[in-house]
Amino acid sequence: MENAKNKIIVLMGGQGAGKGTHAKNLVAQKGFKYIEVGAILRGLPQESPIKQIMARGELVPDSELFNIIKTAITNCGKADIILDGFPRNVEQAKWLVNQYVSDKSPFDIHALHLSLPEKVMIERIANRVQEGGGRADDVNPDVVQKRLDVFKKETLPAIEFLKNAKGIYFYIVDVSPTDFTTNFLSVCKALGIENIDTNKLQVNVANLQTSHNS
Ligand code: AMP
Repeated sequence: MENAKNKIIVLMGGQGAGKGTHAKNLVAQKGFKYIEVGAILRGLPQESPIKQIMARGELVPDSELFNIIKTAITNCGKADIILDGFPRNVEQAKWLVNQYVSDKSPFDIHALHLSLPEKVMIERIANRVQEGGGRADDVNPDVVQKRLDVFKKETLPAIEFLKNAKGIYFYIVDVSPTDFTTNFLSVCKALGIENIDTNKLQVNVANLQTSHNS
C-alpha cells in the first residue's frame, strides 16, 4: 500500500449541481484536502482584472489558472484532493491530463460529472438567492444565463473530453433529485466511498467552515 496513488477527485457540473456542498461534505466525512478554484479567485484583490471577468460570468484566462492549480495541488502534499471548479474548458482538461495522468504521476484522476437538467439548475440558483445564500454572481439573471451558456459551450465539451481520456476514472452521477442525502450517497457510491456517517451530513454549507456557498 506504500506506493498506492492518491486521488484527485474532480467535481464537474453546472450551477446548482451542488459541487461545493458535496465537496465540503466529502471533506467532513473523509478529511480530503479541498481546492475550490472559485473561492481562490474570489479571494483575489478587488481591483484585480480577474474580478471583473468573474463579475461578467466569463471564464478567467487559462494562463492565469495553471500556476494557481499546480501550486494548490503541490501544497496539498501527499493526500487525496477534491478539485472543485477545474477544469472548465477543453484546454484546462487537456492540461490536467498532461500534468497528472501518467504511470509516474502520484495521482489517479477520478472525474465526476454531477448531472442535472438546465431547468433544475436555474431553479436551484433562484432558491439560493431567495434563501439569502446566493453569491454576487447569482443575483443578476444575465450573469446566471452567461454562466449557463459558458457551461454548455465550454465545460460540457471538457467533461466529454475527460470521459474519453485514457487513464481517467470517469463517473456520471444524477444529482437531479431534490434530496441532498440521496445525491451525496450517489456521489459516494460512484467513488467507492463507504461508511458514510449520515449524522454528520450538512446540507446548509454555510454551517460548514467556509466563508461562502458554492
Ligand atoms: P465557481 O465558484 O466555481 O462557480 O466560479 C466562479 C467564477 O470563477 C466563474 O464564473 C469563473 O469566472 C471563475 N472560475 C472558476 N473556476 C474557473 C476555471 N476553472 N476557469 C476559468 N474561470 C474559472
